[in-house]
Amino acid sequence: MSDFSRREFIKQNAMAVAGAALTSGVSGKLAAAGIQTASTPAILGGTPSWSKAQWPSWPTWNPETDEKQVLQVLRSGVWSRAEVVTEFEKAWAAAIGVKRSLAVVNGTNALVTAISQFNIEAGDEVLVPPYTFIATVSAVLTNGAMPAFVDIDPNTYQMDPAKIEAKITPRTKAIIPVHILGLPADMDKIMAIAKKHNLIVIEDACQAHLAEINKKRVGSIGHAGCFSFQNSKNLPIGEGGAVTSNDDAFLDRCFSFTNFGNPYGSAVGAVGTGATMQGTKLRWTEYQAAIGLAQLKRLDAETTTRNENAAYLKSKIKDIPGIVPYQLYPNVTRAAFHLFPFRYKQDAFKGLTRAGFLKALAAEGVPCSSGYNTLNTQPFLNETFQSKGYQGIYPKELLDIKKYNERNQCPQNDLLCKEAVWFTQNMLLGTKNDMDLIANAIEKIYTNAEKIKTLDQK
Ligand SMILES: *Cc1c(COP(=O)(O)O)cnc(C)c1O
Repeated sequence: MSDFSRREFIKQNAMAVAGAALTSGVSGKLAAAGIQTASTPAILGGTPSWSKAQWPSWPTWNPETDEKQVLQVLRSGVWSRAEVVTEFEKAWAAAIGVKRSLAVVNGTNALVTAISQFNIEAGDEVLVPPYTFIATVSAVLTNGAMPAFVDIDPNTYQMDPAKIEAKITPRTKAIIPVHILGLPADMDKIMAIAKKHNLIVIEDACQAHLAEINKKRVGSIGHAGCFSFQNSKNLPIGEGGAVTSNDDAFLDRCFSFTNFGNPYGSAVGAVGTGATMQGTKLRWTEYQAAIGLAQLKRLDAETTTRNENAAYLKSKIKDIPGIVPYQLYPNVTRAAFHLFPFRYKQDAFKGLTRAGFLKALAAEGVPCSSGYNTLNTQPFLNETFQSKGYQGIYPKELLDIKKYNERNQCPQNDLLCKEAVWFTQNMLLGTKNDMDLIANAIEKIYTNAEKIKTLDQK
């Protein structure tokens, strides 16, 4: 018996004889009173549905298959950008189905680079969803541009295409749809609107490695795609990012920008002190690329497992009252499931708050979180608007935070931020039985919501 299946076996038996073998403390007393602790929530003294130590660890790493090229790089002494980075870029472009990709230090700077090299700058507006990681918005502000928030569809968690056109002004230059949680945004509709209004589309695919719409990978649909390889992401390197595109001239400029503005490909011009344009330095190391190539080998299989487990878990929890799972748009042929989300309706759980639900779920050994806060209302926006740069460029009217907040209300997102519950992607690399146990934990909490609520109020 492998170590894993032995643990499985022990755990299954522990479930079956719960209350007998594990009689101690409150669960012991409950068992003595003849109460089945297997169906009693752990937070009320029952046996946890799951023991935390057994969730698949992250990142995945196999010394035997993964370390050969990393060691070669380390021993070569060629550590700054060279052939291995180029090898990764080619492999990543092939994985996404684009002509080229450019490796940059992280996903945030992939966005900063793409925005800047489409010449989006101070005075411009960029449409973003409010349900995203802060970096999407920071990258817009770093370029001196103004984010305008388009509310989301709470069923899909994505920017709602039906709300885009109302937010377009003469200043609008670009849309950044974010395939948030690894669930693809509605790109067919977004691209049609962008075309009609002559807007650039930069996909924030930082959570959506290998996700697909109509069999096309996200990051290949807009004018550019941006990816993150930060350690929590589905392709983990510690830190890392990439810009993908079919536009050679754009990627040449991106390359130049991330390499001090030195000429590259078609990015040529008047050269002084080596540089053809104002640039910065956002390059990779060779050992990052070697780690990335090792991770890329397992990404497709892991993505398949996440999709299978997500669909199975969704089928197991969708009929529990008060649990509203995610929906994918009909044209989505594959998601990435950086996270597994559902909405929690506390009314169906006898008024047990989301915080109380999360606590009870954690006690079952099921790690969970409440996800994002409302990004469109955060104080850093006003701080940026009060800066000299913004004050010098934008009319006062646009920088008035009260008016800004009014223009950028996102009621659907406000509600989603109150109701969302997330599981992390590594949990979806577990077995079907793991998914059963998650569902079991939620059912236990549902059945005992009234009692757990009393605890919550103490
Ligand atoms: C992680 C992430 C980023 C930023 O990527 P980093 O590599 O952490 O800089 C940007 N957007 C989204 C949606 C992300 O999840």
